[in-house]
Amino acid sequence: MPILTMLESIRPGWVARVSQRVARGAGVRESFLEQINLLYGALTQSVETGDPAWIEHVLDNWTQSQTETDLLGDDASQTRILSEILLETQLYVSETLSQVEALELLGALLPLFAYAYEYATRRDINLRVEHVQRELETAQRQLEQLDRSKSDFISVAAHELKTPLTLIEGYTDMIREIFRGESDPTTYQATLLKGIDNGTLRLREIIDDMIDVSLLDNDLLSLNFQPVWIDRIVRNVGEELAGSIADRRQTLAIEPFPGFEEMTFGDPERLFQAFKNLVVNAVKYTPDGGVIEIGGRKLPGFLEITVSDNGIGIDPANHTLIFEKFEQLGNVSLHSSGKTKFKGGGPGLGLPITKGLIEAHGGTIWVESEGQDEETCPGSVFHVMVPLRKDPPDARSARLFQSLVDGIQSP
Ligand code: ADP
Repeated sequence: MPILTMLESIRPGWVARVSQRVARGAGVRESFLEQINLLYGALTQSVETGDPAWIEHVLDNWTQSQTETDLLGDDASQTRILSEILLETQLYVSETLSQVEALELLGALLPLFAYAYEYATRRDINLRVEHVQRELETAQRQLEQLDRSKSDFISVAAHELKTPLTLIEGYTDMIREIFRGESDPTTYQATLLKGIDNGTLRLREIIDDMIDVSLLDNDLLSLNFQPVWIDRIVRNVGEELAGSIADRRQTLAIEPFPGFEEMTFGDPERLFQAFKNLVVNAVKYTPDGGVIEIGGRKLPGFLEITVSDNGIGIDPANHTLIFEKFEQLGNVSLHSSGKTKFKGGGPGLGLPITKGLIEAHGGTIWVESEGQDEETCPGSVFHVMVPLRKDPPDARSARLFQSLVDGIQSP
């Protein structure tokens, strides 16, 4: 019997058996007899024309009408349904046709099932990839939203905190005036005032950090480029922190290198702030008596400055994370109000700001450390690349620089 005739003869029985196997529940089976019928029609047309693409149309239809889940339940996929149909076909054909006819028919159908299987697999994978992509995009949007809310909160909180702080500073000044006669710094009042001063100073530093973070987050930081000398900036940092370094019985060694004293263009206050953050951290995360070294080298177009310490070090898993804002918040037990106390974690804004400032200068920053170990103290090395510029980098800075030069030259 020719194959098409065979196909025609087994059609009603095949449709009934296959829908019995794959369609769940009698109600569903009823409505999907038509779908199974369509598949059979597509198989027949493919045999007739030698083109298996007829099947694609039916499978596409299943996807759109969500036939799959209705057919085999929640874990259904087209590939699974096709396997079930193929198994049932083999059984049914061997029961109803002679062995030779069954073999002949299966020989014609198997390549079509293989084609359908491959098509469905490809589609399954594509659908899954699309699904994961959509999920990722949603998660990404939520993260961005969260980050924006965080950044907005920082900005609002910083400005809200500034007003009462200014009030406290004002009243402290008034109290100071009242006790002006008693200038002896050992008096009780002077000690109390010093305590308030320390507290308000630290609070102002934190608020300033919060404002800097929101400026950097919103691309609003503008640098005041002028001639700077990195060696002078680094030495100023050393002088400013000399007291804390002495308190911790540490040593700061500045090792000059070729190019260290070269002039470049940068924002001196912001570069000072960036290097100060690094040295403050080196002091904080190095035990008493430790050594902090600042050195570097000149590279084509850049100065690479290194700030090294022999402190507790940083786990390589955190080498990128520490430059993310609020990273330190994870370890609240380390929080301390003392700025240079050993391991006295702050709000975790120092390094993100430092990174933002260095990048705003066109530079980069990264850290090297074998790992964190408070016993062996492997230390950390922060590398900072600062571009060497012979001219201000933009028109605004050039104008500012020119007005500065004109001011100096005019009598
Ligand atoms: P924090 O205010 O906590 O010091 P930073 O942004 O300055 O925040 O630093 C982030 C984290 O990076 C710190 O909490 C600390 O865990 C780690 N870190 C920074 N500098 C060093 C260093 N020199 N040695 C060891 N750990 C460091």
